[in-house]
Amino acid sequence: MQPYSELFKAGELVFAEGDAPSGAYLIESGRIEISTTQLGEPRVLGVLGPGMLLGEMAVLDESTRTATARALTDCRLILIGKDQFAERLAAADPVVRALLMSQLTRYRSALATLTGDTRDAGSAATVEPHEAFALGKIRLESELRAALERKELELRLQPIEEIVSGRIAGYEALVRWTHPERGAVSPAEFIRLAEETSLILPIGDYVLERACDMLVELRKRGFKPLPFIAANLSGRQIDDPTLVERILALLRARDLPPDRLKLEVTESLVMDHARIGELLARCHAVGMPVALDDFGTGYSNLGPLLTLNFDQIKLDASFIRALDRPRGVAMVGVIVGMAHALDCDLIAEGVETREQREVLHRLGCRYAQGWLVGKPLSLEDVLGRH
Ligand code: C2E
Ligand code: CA
Ligand code: CA
Repeated sequence: MQPYSELFKAGELVFAEGDAPSGAYLIESGRIEISTTQLGEPRVLGVLGPGMLLGEMAVLDESTRTATARALTDCRLILIGKDQFAERLAAADPVVRALLMSQLTRYRSALATLTGDTRDAGSAATVEPHEAFALGKIRLESELRAALERKELELRLQPIEEIVSGRIAGYEALVRWTHPERGAVSPAEFIRLAEETSLILPIGDYVLERACDMLVELRKRGFKPLPFIAANLSGRQIDDPTLVERILALLRARDLPPDRLKLEVTESLVMDHARIGELLARCHAVGMPVALDDFGTGYSNLGPLLTLNFDQIKLDASFIRALDRPRGVAMVGVIVGMAHALDCDLIAEGVETREQREVLHRLGCRYAQGWLVGKPLSLEDVLGRH
């Protein structure tokens, strides 16, 4: 489809100050002069040429045109509808949108000062709800960054039990942030926020280092055999080709066997088989086990298990909750069989009742994790219970 374009003759008006915005333009050919009236006198703000946008400001915030555009030469302009911007803006990262709108407001207020028009001076102070949301996010992100520097993030250890023996085989490391005003912020909220930027990388490093330090503490206190600690990995961490080497360096520096630190990757990350395949190969080369987390949720698909040789599968809590129904029991039974056939250990997540553990035992599931076994504990509590 041909783009919709309009021709303007040299000297012709494209739009005038005070007009309602109909759309923006992309200049295909020719030159356009932008001017405004300053204290009653016309003042040229600039000349725009091919490839440049014209009149986009009024479309972004729906205010009237704050400048006049006139063709200096014959021009061809491609009309861009309001909706074309609106849709993309709505889909953009809210932080990017807030930045854009804040710049627009500032530009308008500078323009008003320049032209002596102070009618809209107050409007710069209003903050739209979506901007407040985006700025709240930025604020939380800055606070999170500071919390990381001040080492205010804390690692909790949730026990994982070997069902047959009742022995605690290891722990999953779950990060906690105690916000000075908001109290405990769920990792479900702040990890997602950190994942939107590279902040997840230093957080991930911190978690891995703390997990290694905790293994050292457990060893010092005589935990024998030494339990494993499993750390959750994010997509951006997996993209780092030096990740495994760096983890290995942490372990070596503490003289820890590599099989005591496990890595958990969620099913949603496994969309990219090649990437996870590389991670698995690197980990296996040095003897570090990797678990497939949240199995059975979201991207439920057996494809990853066809090609990727995980050491463990963590069955999502939704399956454990279904153990009170014959269908749930049947499905978990099949998944236990599948895990055995693939030579993988199965860990049931979110085990809350004795009945659930009983059924899991009967079905032959090896490990259980959940409130029945124990809530996430501070290291002190873990040491205290020994
Ligand atoms: P996840 O890896 O699936 O972790 C298990 C979550 O289930 C934890 O929530 C845990 O506290 C909760 N849970 C454990 N047992 C039970 C139970 O019996 N019943 C119920 N209702 N819940 C139970 P948490 O600690 O809020 O963590 C949420 C998610 O945040 C984790 O899900 C994980 O994806 C992410 N996360 C936590 N720590 C880290 C981290 O250090 N790095 C990364 N990348 N993600 C993390
Ligand atoms: Ca996990
Ligand atoms: Ca999980």
